[in-house]
Amino acid sequence: MENKNKTTMIPRSERGILRHAFWQYGKSEQNTSLNLYGPRTGPVDILLIAAMHGDENETTVILSEALRRIPVGGIKNPVILSVNPDGALQGTRSNTRGVDLNRNWPTANWAPDMVYHKDHGGTVQDIGLSPGVSPGSEAETQALLNLIQVLQPRTVISLHAPLACVEDPKTTPLARWIAKRVNLPMVPDVGYATPGSFGTWSAEQDIGIITWELPSEPLADMIASHTPVLFELITGEYESGLD
Ligand SMILES: [Zn+2]
Repeated sequence: MENKNKTTMIPRSERGILRHAFWQYGKSEQNTSLNLYGPRTGPVDILLIAAMHGDENETTVILSEALRRIPVGGIKNPVILSVNPDGALQGTRSNTRGVDLNRNWPTANWAPDMVYHKDHGGTVQDIGLSPGVSPGSEAETQALLNLIQVLQPRTVISLHAPLACVEDPKTTPLARWIAKRVNLPMVPDVGYATPGSFGTWSAEQDIGIITWELPSEPLADMIASHTPVLFELITGEYESGLD
């Protein structure tokens, strides 16, 4: 289908630099700037976020690739390239206080028990992290929570890796569109309990939540297949493709 409102892509030779201005929505536990690209007031349709887990840096890279193809002023839906920059810098899933930020949200089912995850490629969930001393205890969680209250997104798209699926408890048209475009299966949940997760918190706030789990594929392949879809989500072009 011809889309007359298509955003002109930045030419390849100029895609090396991230030219969009960012706004600091908070600071991490290590005082690192937490940055937002695009509109800073709401309501917005979609907020796209990456790397709540610091060892899932591919999520930051493919989202950055999409941002760098968009002309300055062309961001309709705001973007966070790294929710957990300290974790990304030290290569850990957790933040620097050993907290899994995806278990630190003030949900009805938050629990103080250690949370266990798999290693890369492993099959047993036996590596322990803290959910925080209390719900919302971490600076990164608080900053994002406050930002979401300001932005009032209808849907948050949270990028993770490497489970290769699109998770949406409500199987919305938007999630189905993404799953079809990137050729990943749609699932209602990841199949294990996630107390205190960002997804559970969003659902409790009546905010749509789509967890986009990248596959375990070479980065170049994902830039080819996933980045164009992110481009359409950030610029708002996806709207013409929904059923
Ligand atoms: Zn993750």
